[in-house]
Amino acid sequence: MSDTRSFAIAGVAGRMGRQVVQAVLRAGHRVAGGTEMADSPARDTDIALLAGQPDPIGVRPASDPVEAAADAHVWIDFTQPQATLAALHGLRHTNVRTVIIGTTGFTAAQEAEIAAAARHFALVKAGNFSLGVNLLVAVTRLVAARLGPDWDIEILETHHKRKLDAPSGTALMLGDAAAAGRGSALETLRRAPYNGPDAQRIEGEIAFSVRRAGGVIGDHEALFASDSEIVSLSHRALDRMVFADGAVRAAEWALAQPAGLYDMEDVLGLKGTFD
Ligand code: NAD
Repeated sequence: MSDTRSFAIAGVAGRMGRQVVQAVLRAGHRVAGGTEMADSPARDTDIALLAGQPDPIGVRPASDPVEAAADAHVWIDFTQPQATLAALHGLRHTNVRTVIIGTTGFTAAQEAEIAAAARHFALVKAGNFSLGVNLLVAVTRLVAARLGPDWDIEILETHHKRKLDAPSGTALMLGDAAAAGRGSALETLRRAPYNGPDAQRIEGEIAFSVRRAGGVIGDHEALFASDSEIVSLSHRALDRMVFADGAVRAAEWALAQPAGLYDMEDVLGLKGTFD
């Protein structure tokens, strides 16, 4: 999109926030504001410099989302659930009507709050903004639909040691897709982690395995196993920029949409492709 829009970016000193600032500028859009925690030393530094850019843009992080969004039309948020929800409340009083949420780890009640907020915004929320993962999600739904309940489904993920939530948002997307392929909701089929003397698998359950180690950006696998065959669908992220570029692409798409809750399959036109 050649049209330059004004973006405000939450958590600009974070691992993802810094990538999003770079991606927004590289796409030719304007960074009009950003946020960081009230006590963050990053509040004293220009947002472009925080993102490793050579030249400042004359904008420092605010702690208040409304202040950060004063001159913005688009909000991109990769922070923490409480911060994202607080921003959504404040943003109603700004000109922002396009919201991209990459934050993960929301409770069911918080997800409902986001769905309600989508009455006010064209809101794209995704546990993963990469093309590869969203294709993997669609294929997982298809494979789960074609293979019977005698095929066990396990979702495996590995992330860096600083990640807060588990399983990852992407693992839950894969679990949701596998459950949907079997005509159920994940809450119905999800099993507790294997642990203890009576941890036997029950047919039809979808289980998650989580590893946290080192600097891994994000590895995911959807494993389908019968007694005689294994199908393994996997994805490895090699650079966080893939998520930031995907978030900017989602914003460009959402600018032309009416208010509502969307996901990355909507943005990429994948809905129904593999059904
Ligand atoms: P991070 O801890 O490096 O960055 C988060 C930033 O948000 C920090 O700088 C923190 O100070 C800031 N922050 C927290 N609360 C704030 C508040 N109230 N106001 C302003 N700033 C605040 O974490 P990260 O690795 O960048 O990940 C952030 C989130 O994005 C996590 O939920 C992670 O799971 C998710 N994530 C999503 C995707 C995706 O594609 N959807 C990809 C990677 C990470």
